[in-house]
Amino acid sequence: MTKKIFVTREIPQLGIKMLEEKGYEVRVNESDSIPTKGDLISLLKDKSYDAVLTLLTDPIDAEVYDASPSVKLYANYATGYDNIDVALARERGITVTNAPSIESAEAVAEHTIALMLALSARIVEADEFVRHGKYKGWSPMNFIGMDIFGKTLGLIGAGRIGERVAHYAKGLGMKIIYYDVTRNERIENERGAIYYNNIEDVLRQSDIVSLHVPLLPSTKHLMDDNKFKLMKRASFIINTSRGPVISEESLLKTLNEKTISGAALDVFEFEPQINPELLKLQNIILTPHIASASIEARDAMAKTVALNIIDFFEGRIPKNIVNS
Ligand code: NAD
Repeated sequence: MTKKIFVTREIPQLGIKMLEEKGYEVRVNESDSIPTKGDLISLLKDKSYDAVLTLLTDPIDAEVYDASPSVKLYANYATGYDNIDVALARERGITVTNAPSIESAEAVAEHTIALMLALSARIVEADEFVRHGKYKGWSPMNFIGMDIFGKTLGLIGAGRIGERVAHYAKGLGMKIIYYDVTRNERIENERGAIYYNNIEDVLRQSDIVSLHVPLLPSTKHLMDDNKFKLMKRASFIINTSRGPVISEESLLKTLNEKTISGAALDVFEFEPQINPELLKLQNIILTPHIASASIEARDAMAKTVALNIIDFFEGRIPKNIVNS
């Protein structure tokens, strides 16, 4: 029987083509808007799909599983998979895969470094200043920033992305320290990173803190009032991981009280909603969850997700099972 796959929103054609070339029946949701859980249920109900290619914006839980009992694989087009109830999938014998790749780690790392330099050199504020016609001539005291060279970068999470960030940070002459639940000897040997077995010491010593952990119960609100209080007054925080890793309320309070210098966020606790008070602040840079949006990363993700589906249907163990 021909395998039937539902794709919840458009992804790069490369992945769709790989599936079609296998003779699978691929149905791509044509709507451009993010489907709600209710939309997903009506899109999947009584359609007897064998697999669903999901995006990180798709909430997949018991109600979705109940509505689509024929689906044996949810293949997420993302590195993170906090949108899927993975434990319940395991109980029900449903396979879940994610789609990490060297290319997406590279894209997120480059975005992180771009945010770091934009924060330290105050690029966004300065751009706005010029656009608003406020530039009236050179001044020795205009937009004084901070050099990156010689500063300490504190990585929270030193997996694929953390390692690539360390690669660039070393090139910029930074000292690298990190906290992770698992020690990573490669980042120590190749990038000279120093391991701390607690997050507190990393926060106390860093000039720039960059978050690279998955969203798990143990990392939700990892950065709260108490943790922000440990950071240096002249330090910055960057989050390209998942929004709820930071308590947005605590961040807002911290930035308002100026107990740290600034923040750059690619992800938000309640995205796409962003606390309007954050939008009013000068000392923050915001990007709309685009850290992995390079052409190389998006194509690699499409290829990875398609390969996971093909392996699953051809009786091989997909490379990126997250609930085995
Ligand atoms: P990874 O699995 O390679 O690395 C994650 C690291 O976090 C691991 O080393 C792990 O040991 C560590 N970790 C797990 N729980 C921890 C805890 N409680 N405290 C400290 N460390 C902990 O993942 P990755 O490829 O580096 O990606 C990291 C995250 O980045 C993803 O889970 C995803 O949510 C996010 N991401 C965001 C984007 C984006 O577009 N902004 C793109 C890709 C990935």
